[in-house]
This record gives sequence, structure tokens and C-alpha cells, in this order.
Amino acid sequence: MKENLKRDDLIAAIDETRTSFDTDNPVVPFIEGDGIGVDIWPASQKVFDSAVKKAYSDQRKIEWTEVLAGQKAFDATDEWLPNKTLELFDNYGIGIKGPLTTPVGGGIRSINVAIRQKLDLYACLRPLRWFSGIESPTKNPGDVDIALFRENTEDVYSGKELEMNSDEVRSLNAFLNSEFGWEIREDSGIGIKPISKTASERLIRAALNYAVENNKKNLAIVHKGNIMKFTEGAFRAWGYELVKSEFSDVAVAWDDCNGDPGDKILVQDVIADAFLQQILIKPQEFDVIATTNLNGDYASDALAAQIGGIGISPGGNINYENGKSVFEATHGTAPKHAGKDKANPGSLILSGEMMFRYMGWNEAADLIVKSMEKSISEGNVTYDLARGRTDATTLSSSDFAKSLTENIEGF
Ligand code: NAP
Repeated sequence: MKENLKRDDLIAAIDETRTSFDTDNPVVPFIEGDGIGVDIWPASQKVFDSAVKKAYSDQRKIEWTEVLAGQKAFDATDEWLPNKTLELFDNYGIGIKGPLTTPVGGGIRSINVAIRQKLDLYACLRPLRWFSGIESPTKNPGDVDIALFRENTEDVYSGKELEMNSDEVRSLNAFLNSEFGWEIREDSGIGIKPISKTASERLIRAALNYAVENNKKNLAIVHKGNIMKFTEGAFRAWGYELVKSEFSDVAVAWDDCNGDPGDKILVQDVIADAFLQQILIKPQEFDVIATTNLNGDYASDALAAQIGGIGISPGGNINYENGKSVFEATHGTAPKHAGKDKANPGSLILSGEMMFRYMGWNEAADLIVKSMEKSISEGNVTYDLARGRTDATTLSSSDFAKSLTENIEGF
């Protein structure tokens, strides 16, 4: 398997991926999703098809094929994540999914984490931007326009944990005590936090490459390396080394230019707790973020809260080296709203917009964004975005999709 490609090889691999979508009728596997999946998937699919039709007439069309995961898969096959689903995502190289229930009790820990790990979708890209008209708890939500790259395969998040009082935790504890003299309370669960040079470099390389491709001015490496020196601190150090070894023609570290990068991308690092404060006080100072898995999880939801919440915040899980990708709504199954035709399909719709852009179908992607801008600014929104607005009409999931498709047809 190709792994940890250098910058030039990565760019070639990304070009190869783009040409692989140079077909007019690609098959795209989709997971409807549990809970509100039944409401937001059909609504989103209508918007996707409408945007493609408007952009390309009958010349291009997506062949949607449903694959199973989550409760729907369990009910049909007794498996939460059938191999067939992973195989189809792998074979077609692309996919999109609604939210999935995390099974409680034994078996699979998280279906979402399993999909990312099994397909080695190492970069979680969360673009965070505000649509005019959306109520926000902050004064200037329009200052948020950030692409956050979160490492997707490592960290304490990857599930290497042992339970208190288990034989495994006792054995590990005894080993840590005899080998390193570490004293950990007997009644502890223990989690392992692996952060490798390979995974850190490929994530930061993808983020730097994105910054170059999208003419961004700065990139921040977000870490907690002042305390976790050999994991988060190493992530930071490897990032700076990468800037020097592969990106010195287009990017420069703050310390190497006294904060004056000229035409280059300014790379700096920010400690994670300070970062959570800075994105509230001065989010306009951040364009692209590269961060570890758990930091990325917290920071992306904190940023999402500023721009309208998880109902409107999209995501993509991408392996830029082999081109495989699965785009996904970032919220959960919101069980209390399931089946009520109420939830906001915005997160899934904008995940589709990301998918089209990834495929090079920019015209369809642009139409989706334009139609969202129009409906939201005119106050035609679902309940979550109508909250706090006096000028809004509350639409159902399906009527919100109808509002978007009508916009698209009218453009
Ligand atoms: P959640 O499903 O994200 O829902 C929490 C709240 O967020 C909802 O009650 C609702 O708030 C709001 N919300 C979420 N999606 C929305 C949408 N599309 N439109 C409008 N509002 C939306 O979180 P949860 O209740 O903690 O988790 C439920 C299940 O989802 C769990 O099994 C969890 O493991 C799973 N989950 C899956 C994913 C994923 O598949 N990627 C991610 C997170 C959680 P209001 O109460 O204000 O209406």
C-alpha cells in the first residue's frame, strides 16, 4: 500500500483521484442512517439530484446505491457493519452517510470510527463557515471560515482501552510498574494514546496541501504538547519539520519569519486550550487547522456551535493518498426527532456539496451552496435554525429540501 507520500507524490495521487471521477455516471454508495436518517437522506438526495441536473442537464447523473450499516444493517443481517458495506465503499472509492447509532454494550465500539479506521480514512475535514441569517451565540459569526483537518486514526480516541479490574489492565499495570516504575492506581481503566510520525505527517501534509490549493494565508497546528510532549508535542515538531522539508517554497513557520511570511502561508502552533478561547475571540485569524484526533473532535463542535450548530456542519473522511473518501453528516441520530420530518438535512446536504467538490463537480457544489445561502437568508429554515429568529418560517426536512430545489431550478 502507498503510504506517507511526499508532497509531489501526494499531489499526483490527488490528481489521479480526480481523473477517476471523470465519469458521467459514477456509482455512489450511501448509508441512509439511523434515527433522523429516514428524514434527512431522502431530502438530501433530492437536492443532490436537482443540483446535478441543473448543472449538467442529462449529461451527468449519480447512480445511488444503498449500503447497510447501523440499526438497519443489524435488523437485516445481525451485523452492525457488514463487510459488504466496507467492500463497496472501498471498491467505488467514495460514499456518503447519514448518522449511525452507536450500539450500547458489547460488540462494535463505534460504527463511524470503525469505517474510518478500516478504510484508513486518515483525514477528517470539517469546513466551518457561517451562512448569513443564522443566529449565533457570538457577535461576528461571519469571521468563522475555517477548514479543520483532524487526524482520524490514532490518539486516545482510537479505542485502545482496558477496563478497570480486567486481567488485561492488571497485567499492563504490572508491566508498567516493573519496567518503568510507573504507579497507576489499581482501580484504573487505562487508555493508550499512540501518535505516530507517519500518521501526523500525512495529516499535516494534507492540510498544508489544502492551504496551498485554496490560497489560504495561514495554518495552525493545534496540540497540547506542553504537557504531552512525546505525542502532541511530537505532532507539532513533525509539522514544523514537514514545512521545512517539503513546503519551504510556499510556507514558513512563524519563528523563521518573525511573523512576516510575505507571500507564503504562515504556519504557527497553538495550544489546544488557548485555541478554544481564541476561536471565540478572534476566529478570523485562522484559515486552516491541523490537529490530533481528540482535539479535533472538541474544536470542530465548538466551532460548529458558532455557525449554527451540528445540524448544518458537514464533514468528509478522506485518504488523500489512495483517494478513498466517505462524506458524512457530523451530528448523531437525534432519536427524539426521528421519523418526524423535522430535522435539518443541512449537514448531510453540505457533506454532499463537499463530495461533489472532491469529485471535481464544482458546478453542482456551487449550486448547493447558493441555494442554501438563499433559503437561509430568506428565513426558510428548519426548526433549529428558526430558533431565535423572528423573520423565519419553520419548514419540515422535506420542505426545506423543496425550498432548495426550487432555488436551484430558478437559478
Ligand atoms: P445527536 O444525535 O447529534 O443529537 C443531539 C441534539 O442535537 C438533538 O437532540 C438536536 O437538538 C440536535 N441535532 C442533531 N442533529 C440535528 C439535525 N440534523 N437537525 C437539527 N438538530 C439536530 O446526539 P446524541 O443524542 O448524543 O446521539 C444520538 C446517537 O447518535 C447516539 O447513538 C450517538 O452515539 C450517535 N452519534 C452518531 C454520530 C455519527 O453517526 N456521526 C455522531 C454523533 C452521535 P435539539 O434537542 O435542540 O433539537
